[in-house]
Amino acid sequence: MKTCITYHEKFKQYDLGVNHPFRGDRFVKAKIFFDKKSLSSLPNVFFIEPKAATKEDVLKVHSKRYVDHIFKLAEKGGSYDIDTPVSKRILEGAMFIIGGVLEAGRYVIEGKADRGVALGGGFHHAGLDYGGGFCLFNDIAILVSELREKHDVKRVLILDYDVHFGNGTSDIYYSDGDVLFISLHQDPRTIYPGRGFIHEVGSGRGEGLNINIPLPMRTGERSYLYALNEIFPPLAEDFKPDIIIANGGSDAHFADHLGSLGLTARGFFEISRIIGSVSEEVCGGKVILLVGSGYNINVLPYCWYALALGLIKPDASLEKIEDFFPQPHDPWQNLEKVKKIVCSLKDILSKYWSCF
Ligand SMILES: [Zn+2]
Repeated sequence: MKTCITYHEKFKQYDLGVNHPFRGDRFVKAKIFFDKKSLSSLPNVFFIEPKAATKEDVLKVHSKRYVDHIFKLAEKGGSYDIDTPVSKRILEGAMFIIGGVLEAGRYVIEGKADRGVALGGGFHHAGLDYGGGFCLFNDIAILVSELREKHDVKRVLILDYDVHFGNGTSDIYYSDGDVLFISLHQDPRTIYPGRGFIHEVGSGRGEGLNINIPLPMRTGERSYLYALNEIFPPLAEDFKPDIIIANGGSDAHFADHLGSLGLTARGFFEISRIIGSVSEEVCGGKVILLVGSGYNINVLPYCWYALALGLIKPDASLEKIEDFFPQPHDPWQNLEKVKKIVCSLKDILSKYWSCF
């Protein structure tokens, strides 16, 4: 299995400010750690330096009015909202990150790689005509558009394991009958953007295809993986996607500064290992992993590395996945609460899915 990883020095221009949690050095530190671990010297792993995406790429998903607004804001410098500043430099960084996501997708779909890891990607809070939550353009949806337009891709499964609910992605595909969106995230009552409840299942052709798995604060790693294993593999088998796109990063780590779930680096290794194994069952192993979130710079490189390794070398010893901190609490924390949520969700989904 060949894996391509996209990275460009210009990613670091997506730096939202000195005191902002989304800083440009996050990408650089991850790449330095990957190099220290000699990831690129593993057989069948190669790095690609992408070109920047274009305004036309972005317009495949977003409204012209919104895109023009962001480009104008970038020209004069300003802020889309309180958390999301915009400048020429930031916009250029965003276009390189989107370019990396598109390039990883092309490599996989054209068979030049089996799996793609797009560093920096996963701006899931951006919708058709809005941004926010550090996100300008939804690179996940831009990739889906390109795969559907230029390649023979019809059905896409998007797995969003970011600690925050992917409201932008969910809105874009809420009534789409060919995109299955599954999101595991922290209980929306306790975190931005305050949405992502189990009863939000999609509408019209997309009814039953929007799956939200909200997890209580401080859910332990094994409890998290229980929820993932109960919902994601059976749905993937029933849905039979042409490709799986997964997005997240390290903000579900227990030491993250914005999230309050309980994963460790080993948990992230497990997540991507599960994604890889399910993809082999359902879509010939075709996966693109977008890895961009995480706001504790000390744990981020370990977790991003674990995510990449889970795809590249799923038989790697768990003992070799280091973590910056030891596990702080019970990995089975909140299991009973999680079981109840999974049970209620399956009950709702049984109307649409034979696997439940
Ligand atoms: Zn997040």
